[in-house]
Amino acid sequence: MVLRRLNCFVLAFSLTVVLTLPALGFSQTSAGKSGPAPAAAKKAAAKKPGGAAGAKGAPKAAPGKAKDEAIIHIIHEVSPEQVQATIEKLVSFGTRSTLSVNNPGAATSDKGIVAARNWIKAEFERYSAACGGCLEVKTDTFVLQPKSRIPQPTALQNVYAILRGTDPAQSKRIFLVTGHYDSRNSDNDNTTDPAPGANDDGSGTAVSLECARVLSKHRFPATIIFLTVSGEEQGLDGSTHFAKMAKAEGWQLEGVLNNDIVGGNRTPGDTLQNRSWVRVFSEGIPVAATEAEQRVIRAVGGENDSASRQIARYVADVNRTYDSFGKFTPKLIFRRDRYLRGGDHTAFNEQGFAAVRFTEYREDFNHQHQTPRVKNGVEYGDWPKFVDFEYVANVARLNAATLASLASAPSAPKAKLLTKELENDSKIEWDAVPGAVAYDILWRKTTDPDFLEENVTRFTDTKVDLQESKDNVIFGVRAVGAKGQRSLVMIPGPERGPVPAASPTPTPQADKK
Ligand SMILES: [Zn+2]
Repeated sequence: MVLRRLNCFVLAFSLTVVLTLPALGFSQTSAGKSGPAPAAAKKAAAKKPGGAAGAKGAPKAAPGKAKDEAIIHIIHEVSPEQVQATIEKLVSFGTRSTLSVNNPGAATSDKGIVAARNWIKAEFERYSAACGGCLEVKTDTFVLQPKSRIPQPTALQNVYAILRGTDPAQSKRIFLVTGHYDSRNSDNDNTTDPAPGANDDGSGTAVSLECARVLSKHRFPATIIFLTVSGEEQGLDGSTHFAKMAKAEGWQLEGVLNNDIVGGNRTPGDTLQNRSWVRVFSEGIPVAATEAEQRVIRAVGGENDSASRQIARYVADVNRTYDSFGKFTPKLIFRRDRYLRGGDHTAFNEQGFAAVRFTEYREDFNHQHQTPRVKNGVEYGDWPKFVDFEYVANVARLNAATLASLASAPSAPKAKLLTKELENDSKIEWDAVPGAVAYDILWRKTTDPDFLEENVTRFTDTKVDLQESKDNVIFGVRAVGAKGQRSLVMIPGPERGPVPAASPTPTPQADKK
């Protein structure tokens, strides 16, 4: 099917714009026909008599991809050699078992998780020194009481660096990239034998560090946090503590990118790995949605439009904008995580934050959570030799470009579909967003997985009256900055009732950060 741009019609004496969507085949029988449906024009004119000329709300042609020179540099600055050095250094600590903190002499040993986290902190500090102290390097330390896989009180520490936004009004907005630096072998309680964790999750830790190294050479209006957590292997404990802290302190955390097992496993003989693809998992119905919010989601068919899913779509949009960095693309998986498995993004979802997970296309389970050994001719163990460092660098490029785009763009507008009257038109209104010079209306068929660039029209007003029925398509709204930066897409919620489907932030709270 050939999809065509919206046909637009501006009423001469109204601020309201009436649009038809012939491309989707709902309002016209001839796909080649252009211009507004007369009935719609008449109807809208009758509804909206008088008023000023409609110049303010006039639709503009949707622009092409707006590439940012700084982001092009960022993509080039990501280094496979640096990624390799990071992963090999992490492996050099022997084990990064969360429980190894309890080993005798752990505080001064050059092996174990304490040595690893001290090195990560020093690495963040090194990047900060190189940018004139631009990073705030912090730790989040707490004691976990005994529970499953935690046999005794155990001190955990998350290590992170903050690249504070430069715009006072925008710096409260936070985007975050994370990976878990703890590792394990076949025995959860074994804290001394090797647990190299090169792929799981040395690779994700390297993505956080590499994003910090590269992005700290640049400045963004909004804030970016580079996080590395521990306790993932015992039950997402580090990320849960961090996400709860973010919620309790009212952080305006608008998006989380979790990288876990992004090594592009290259076990000899595996012919089914695809080194051009990385999976991006996102939840459907938000786990944190209230009963009332879930009722609205079911009522409007919002099951495929969580805030996390808009993050995933944003990743795909960034990838298309930068021409897939040659040949590397995210494969959006509309599922919270791999089948019946979990990861640190889930901990953020649980607290109401939008979060997605990056994972290599095809995993090799002989190289995860395994005590290194050879048995029946099969080599087990999560060693660097099975990691494709160029692949990890591509994942880091995709993360860094996404973070830079998000932190450069305005907030997503709060939008609503007016539903007080039963009518076939779709009236959408949204709040003006600081820093936005225009807004895009996007739409897709209810059966389409993503918005297409062809189905976008740009406005400067903050409301539209669309001829197409909200019953038949899914609309989205995004804000556009002065340089063409695009916000996350907001799905307008019904005017009545809560608006849960695509709120990019949890309930707004005072920022204490
Ligand atoms: Zn992992």
